[in-house]
Amino acid sequence: MKKIALFPGSFDPLTNGHMDTIRRGTHVFDEVVVAISTNTSKKSLFTGEERISLAKQVLGDNPKVKVVPHNGGLTVEMAKELGATALLRGVRNVKDFEYEESIAMMNRLQAAELETVLLLASPEYRFISSSLIKEVAMFGGDISQLVPKVIEDAMKEKYAK
Ligand code: ADP
Repeated sequence: MKKIALFPGSFDPLTNGHMDTIRRGTHVFDEVVVAISTNTSKKSLFTGEERISLAKQVLGDNPKVKVVPHNGGLTVEMAKELGATALLRGVRNVKDFEYEESIAMMNRLQAAELETVLLLASPEYRFISSSLIKEVAMFGGDISQLVPKVIEDAMKEKYAK
């Protein structure tokens, strides 16, 4: 049976840190489904549709990765519908761990058989966050080493407006 992991997130925007987690996830699972939330409470730079389109452009070549909109409801329900056996998330530091732990415990209460797999961020990506990248890009800083080229260009265009 194909082992599928669901990687939910806001990805506003997708960073090289997310890319690393997705790539490493495909070494553990047969397929990683990236589910992009479109109704996030966080104020987003890119609309849901833009984030999905950008992620598809960046990840579309990888046959082991699928990009879909989040169903807007419970992530565990979405996992069930997809036949996913695990939720994939990334952890950069203790703060991430505490946050991820509480989400994982809550999800376990909803669906005990669904495992949360946390991948430790690679050292070179530990300091990358979507929010910091947005701050730097807003002031015209260099983000070329932090995000894929397609994302860099889209951010430049966004902030030029
Ligand atoms: P959310 O709004 O759900 O936290 P994000 O897009 O901010 O969504 O992050 C999605 C997941 O990716 C989270 O598990 C987060 O901890 C992880 N993540 C974010 N940045 C990195 C990074 N640089 N390296 C590894 N994992 C990361």
